[in-house]
Amino acid sequence: MRAKQEERVVTLLHGAGGQLMQELLAQILKKFTKTSVGSGIGLKELDDGAVIPLAGKNLVFTTDSHVVQPIFFPGGDIGRLAVAGTVNDLAVMGAQPLALSCGLVLPEGFPIAELERILESMDRALEEAGAALITGDTKVLGHGELEGLIINTAGIGLAERVVTDAGLRPGDKLLVTGPIGDHGMALLAHREGLEFETTLESDVAPINHLIARALAAGGAAITAMKDPTRGGLAACLNEMARKAGVGIIVYESAIPMREEVRGLGELLGINPLEVANEGKALIGIAPERAQAVLEALRGHPQGRDAAIIGEATADYPGKVILVTEVGGKRFLENPIGDPVPRIC
Ligand code: MG
Repeated sequence: MRAKQEERVVTLLHGAGGQLMQELLAQILKKFTKTSVGSGIGLKELDDGAVIPLAGKNLVFTTDSHVVQPIFFPGGDIGRLAVAGTVNDLAVMGAQPLALSCGLVLPEGFPIAELERILESMDRALEEAGAALITGDTKVLGHGELEGLIINTAGIGLAERVVTDAGLRPGDKLLVTGPIGDHGMALLAHREGLEFETTLESDVAPINHLIARALAAGGAAITAMKDPTRGGLAACLNEMARKAGVGIIVYESAIPMREEVRGLGELLGINPLEVANEGKALIGIAPERAQAVLEALRGHPQGRDAAIIGEATADYPGKVILVTEVGGKRFLENPIGDPVPRIC
């Protein structure tokens, strides 16, 4: 007798930003007929946002749901995260944010004082970004139907020149805007009860002004951008390499990382290159402008520790090669998923 085919179900890894999520997304994608507007960027590109060409301008549109646990964490909270996440997805498409929406899903019994704290934090982050909150929706679920809360934010912005995550060319330099691993490791330390042993905080912040500086300094020499959120730097680099059909060589010694992040990674057995960042971007730049963009970023408080960490190459298309501190080489694999659930 043939065994009954096992019913396939969604697992936590399907939402974790890695290989399994990409497979699920590919499956979702097949269900929709019209997935872009005009010649714009749409669902199929699986970029940080979509682009609608409108009256000679590029309207950029993106959406993101936030479920982070705990909702207050070192360096931020779910409200700040919900604004920064959407603003940064617009920014790495080359857009400055105009307006956001906010969809709240709250559990019955949620303290109003906590909600107020979260909304005030959202407002501060919107002010930092220079964006308005112009529409929203609120739903309440019954006791036990939801742990914590869910915030969905969609955002629109305008881009003079759209930058995708697929535009790397061999020879381009890869620049990261600051230390890697802060958000994931700060959250993990907090969850493991290690917060008294570390002062590490999440990097959660809107970085649209920082990105605007890079765009002003780099112009058309900026070939690709992406924010290394779920799956961390490793997932981000792999996606950029795969979409552009180039290889990427990254020098471990050049990747900015706080000692605390490195130490916590070793202690907890988690690779800091695979955890989420919420205030960083990876930027691909034609080599002749790389130094100018680096200097422009370093002149902004959010970009003080920006660094060139590697380059794109015609060899090993779709692969990321990590040159280790002792000079060895290995593939930096695309993580199966972010090792930390409910990270953003
Ligand atoms: Mg993104």
